[in-house]
Amino acid sequence: MTYVKNLICKECGKEYPIEKRSTCEDCFGPLDVRYNLSKIAENVNPDIIETRTKSIWRYKELLPVDISLEHVEINVGYTPLKKCEKLGSILGLKNLYIKDDTVNPTGSFKDRPASVAVTKALEWGLPAVGCASTGNLAGATAAAASNVGLPSYIFIPEGLATGKIISALAYGANVIEIKGTYDRTNRIANLVSDKKNWGIVNINIRPYYVEGSKTITYEICEQLGWNVPDRIIVPLGSGALLVSANKALGELRKLGWVKNATTKICGSQPEGCSPIVTALTTGNPNIIPVEQPTTIAKSLAIGDPASGYETKEIIKRTGGWGDAPADQEIIEAQLLLARTEGILSEPAGGSVIASLQRKVRSGEVDSDEVVVLYITGIGLKSTEVIAPFLNEPISSDGNIDVIEAILA
Ligand SMILES: *Cc1c(COP(=O)(O)O)cnc(C)c1O
Ligand SMILES: [Zn+2]
Repeated sequence: MTYVKNLICKECGKEYPIEKRSTCEDCFGPLDVRYNLSKIAENVNPDIIETRTKSIWRYKELLPVDISLEHVEINVGYTPLKKCEKLGSILGLKNLYIKDDTVNPTGSFKDRPASVAVTKALEWGLPAVGCASTGNLAGATAAAASNVGLPSYIFIPEGLATGKIISALAYGANVIEIKGTYDRTNRIANLVSDKKNWGIVNINIRPYYVEGSKTITYEICEQLGWNVPDRIIVPLGSGALLVSANKALGELRKLGWVKNATTKICGSQPEGCSPIVTALTTGNPNIIPVEQPTTIAKSLAIGDPASGYETKEIIKRTGGWGDAPADQEIIEAQLLLARTEGILSEPAGGSVIASLQRKVRSGEVDSDEVVVLYITGIGLKSTEVIAPFLNEPISSDGNIDVIEAILA
């Protein structure tokens, strides 16, 4: 039983059946999955959802797969929404929350979209799956594929943190490292997968992939007692996560599961790769691609973001902002989170915290707003980034007196 209606082109409105297709044949616009929301509202409600298993599949009616069939099951989602008193008081906020997606099975929110897309590929009987990855999607796709016994082909640009590559290899993936940027990797993965009948989760089955990301926002609202936050701050790579947040909030409103209040949707990109934020701050109607991203926040180093334009429009429409901190601020914020809340995030998390800090200072965030930071990936895969900013361990031959003297 599924409540999926069809695919619809976000540009021209042309409709398609649910099939392996990611762009409109008339206008090349991106396709979006639509649901029969009134049917869902008749059959499901928050009370029912609250009784269910604590994973993304508790929102199964709002996902484009049939989980009565074989599906990816590695315990993804229902991650903590943590009220941060200490970090909040440092930043000057009374109601600051962190959505801690570092605790997903492969350490990032990418487990959500990868689980849904790989499940769809399995349902369709595709021979293999894969992705073009800035790092985290590699492990997420590889783990989901191995869980359901599908081979995986992971395309990555050169220069990623070794922890991200090694984990994909450990899950049994075939990893193909392409010279050059992520955008080049993406084009090549697209060409190869066209020839084979592979499901490349974030390319040729992208409409299904992005649906998985909605679950992080459903959870936030559920964890706030079926209320929407006043403001969310989302790290931007392709922009898909932010677009999915907007869609999730819209669906919950239409279902009547949350009040009709608006949420200001804000985005953060590192200064060295900020095509969306630049378009917002300069008022340029177009997103101008960044040819050579230069940032330590590799997960966000997408120079030509697939959902860039839509992301910019959502931020404007909801009264949010875009912000682009420097790498130095990102690392400091990453360490601030680790040292106040005990959560070691990767630079993407540092980016949203640094942006919030800058915007509180400039008076663009009120101290009593309910603010949720999307902390999307764990820091343990990319420790080389922060290592240069940390003290060396104290080295000792074991002489107690000397150790005591050093630590005095
Ligand atoms: C992929 C990724 C993002 C960005 O997601 P998009 O949907 O591409 O915008 C943010 N944070 C982390 C940790 C990621 O891996
Ligand atoms: Zn179209």
